[in-house]
Amino acid sequence: MKSPTMNQETIQAQRTIEQRMRDVQHFGEEGGVVPVIDVAATSTFLNPQDMERTFRGELQGCYLYSRHSNPSVNALSQKLAAMEGSEAALGVASGMAAVATAVEAICTANGKGPGGHIVCSRTVYGGTWALFANLLPRRGIEVTFVDPTKPEEFERAIRPSTRLVYTETVSNPLLTVCDIAAVAKIAHARGLPLVVDNTFTPMLVSPIALGADVVIHSCTKFISGSSDLIAGAVCASRDFINQLIDVNTGPVMLTGPVMDARVAHELYLRLDHLGVRLRAHSESSLALAKNLEQAGIRVLHPGLESHPQYGLYRSILNPGLGTGAMMTLDCGTSAKAMELAFHLQKEKFGLYAVSLGFSRTLMSCPSVSTSSEIPEADQKTMGLSPGLLRLSVGYLGDTGVLSQRFLDSWKAVGLG
Ligand code: PLP
Repeated sequence: MKSPTMNQETIQAQRTIEQRMRDVQHFGEEGGVVPVIDVAATSTFLNPQDMERTFRGELQGCYLYSRHSNPSVNALSQKLAAMEGSEAALGVASGMAAVATAVEAICTANGKGPGGHIVCSRTVYGGTWALFANLLPRRGIEVTFVDPTKPEEFERAIRPSTRLVYTETVSNPLLTVCDIAAVAKIAHARGLPLVVDNTFTPMLVSPIALGADVVIHSCTKFISGSSDLIAGAVCASRDFINQLIDVNTGPVMLTGPVMDARVAHELYLRLDHLGVRLRAHSESSLALAKNLEQAGIRVLHPGLESHPQYGLYRSILNPGLGTGAMMTLDCGTSAKAMELAFHLQKEKFGLYAVSLGFSRTLMSCPSVSTSSEIPEADQKTMGLSPGLLRLSVGYLGDTGVLSQRFLDSWKAVGLG
């Protein structure tokens, strides 16, 4: 048999994720090619004992109430599990709901009492940082932040009271790439689960395959792709997902940040073109980054050889989808970064707005927006410059034209 060429191998390997997602298929009630939206908040039982048994957890597979489970959310969750290669998944109300409920479930698993300790990467999204640094300590949970590029720091920070290890695959906003396999090994050697936020790299990187136990997504970003809804997901073992919705102790069931069926249906349909969108994002983003680098601007993009973890990133990327949409550059001060972003918005290069994963380029200055929860001294420790401008590069428009608009604006605000 003729051995496959590199290109065929690449296509074959990529097929595994897209094929896995594609093969999760649900039909509409009358054989429709898409499932119906099941908006029912509550479901009937044909056998009176079944309701009781379902509440007692003795009977699986029955829908009882949509805060517990819903067919449209379940359909989406199956696709998300196929994407992440996890046994199961659960769509929830937001990315923060995913982070908070997953952490709560681990910290309280097996009847564990209050308190505990978390080892967390220092360069995480500002909301996650604030949850860990401000809110969880009020519940007696301590957190140690460490450098995500140094697995040994995770190891050193583990205490007897540690309950989980947490990191982002590619960090928000510094685009630091974490060696998930190395950190997973360290966590597992001490019997701890590793939770990975994969929001920046859905499909591009598969943390479960690298050793992560729980994967978090803010579906508000690339998975939605239209910046028109807020949603999140937890991908993990079936046992862990059941733990989240347990009627007696489940953090999703009992604090209630569930995903609406209509949102789940929207996301279900959009997952079909996530791969196509990611390829287009990657292509535009890398082309823009290269053009800016060639013009002498220092850009940080994990797909450029100049990125400090370029080699690691290459080694963990799934083939065929490129290197992602995200890039940053330093404008010196937040005032300059905002001036540039505003100019770029005026020139119709992109939009001055937080968030990411939209069809158009979104620009924000994290030190005064999505990382503003992090005190200045901690921003400094993690290497977050006040003038950092974060770009989620969209796929609409001609990259040549947009690069020129960027270079003209760079000059116009006195940076060039
Ligand atoms: N995780 C990351 C990496 C994020 O960037 C965000 C939001 O920006 C979140 C989690 C929270 O997601 P959401 O806004 O959907 O709650």
